[in-house]
Amino acid sequence: MRILVTGGAGFIGSAVCRQLVAGGAARVVNVDKLTYAGNLDSLRTIERQANYVHYRADIGNERGMLEIMRREKIDAVMHLAAESHVDRSIDGPDIFIETNIVGTVRLLNAALAYWSELAIGARERFRFHHVSTDEVFGDLPFDGSVFTEETAYAPSSPYAASKAASDHLVRAWAHTYGLPVVSSNCSNNFGPYHFPEKLIPLAIINAIEEKPLPVYGTGMNVRDWLHVEDHVRALELVVRQGRPGESYNIGARAERCNVAVVERICDLLDGRRPRELGRSYRDLIAFVPDRPGHDRRYAIDPSKIERELGWKPRLGFDEGLSMTVDWYLANRWWWEPIRHRRYSGTRLGERQRRLA
Ligand code: NAD
Repeated sequence: MRILVTGGAGFIGSAVCRQLVAGGAARVVNVDKLTYAGNLDSLRTIERQANYVHYRADIGNERGMLEIMRREKIDAVMHLAAESHVDRSIDGPDIFIETNIVGTVRLLNAALAYWSELAIGARERFRFHHVSTDEVFGDLPFDGSVFTEETAYAPSSPYAASKAASDHLVRAWAHTYGLPVVSSNCSNNFGPYHFPEKLIPLAIINAIEEKPLPVYGTGMNVRDWLHVEDHVRALELVVRQGRPGESYNIGARAERCNVAVVERICDLLDGRRPRELGRSYRDLIAFVPDRPGHDRRYAIDPSKIERELGWKPRLGFDEGLSMTVDWYLANRWWWEPIRHRRYSGTRLGERQRRLA
């Protein structure tokens, strides 16, 4: 398959590109505008491969997207480009509307125009895969309830609302214009090359640098964690074998509250890189005022993708987290330049700086 990956310089998109290139895809076309979250360093291992190319372009440039699809003879689009950080969406929602909603419409228009030009067989094989989040479903109480594909949408944050809107628009382009789309809604990812404003990389790097480890509120908010490589394997199955018009929930049944995640990171680092005087990294944990409208709990029921596409996660949470801590310890070359850029504007980032 010749696959166009939008947002391929981001955390999940770069893992998709690395995996597709290594797996021998005919062509992997990474379209990424390189916002603060895009980083070509995450693609060093594949940048010289013959089946890989990067275009620095905006998904909102409809004509440009159509030209790339034509030139590269694309068989499928995997759409990951987005503004993705909830805290940033609270501080400044406009760019989330622009990228996640308007940008998705522009990309859909380009894909529809391109698809309409294809021969019959190619039209049947073509897929537009929209990569979305479980946050569109809103939050769950602290009980055994889970999100299924039938759960009603009830997004809480501007980020979640913008992703919910894009999910609806993608379905409308399928229903109204016949574009063959598949969608997936995934829980929180973690793993290597994760931008250090998000909880897990922030905690690991701050601990390595002996800085406070900020945790919102009482730290009891629960997220359902999935290693990014397991997510990528699920995405590959969805784009290749998912039924057009369907959506698939992706998660590993690995619920953890935030403070437990940060404590686990501390314990792993205590084992690998002991602090002076026998102190634990747990001493660095600092509870900070809660995020406005902070969702309590997310939990995914992945039965449909397990049943229909035979997907199962390979990495347990503890094993995946241990590998992730090791990766950040071994790959300062990747995250130090980002820290020095002093990216700004995130609540957790700002609080972390004030605490430091
Ligand atoms: P990220 O913020 O790390 O990467 C987003 C990428 O999109 C960046 O490389 C950025 O440069 C690019 N981009 C932004 N605006 C663009 C534009 N207008 N044109 C072209 N490129 C643009 O995000 P991520 O964590 O890798 O998430 C990728 C996708 O997966 C998002 O759609 C997100 O909603 C979804 N998702 C993420 C998670 C998670 O835990 N990270 C979970 C479920 C779903």
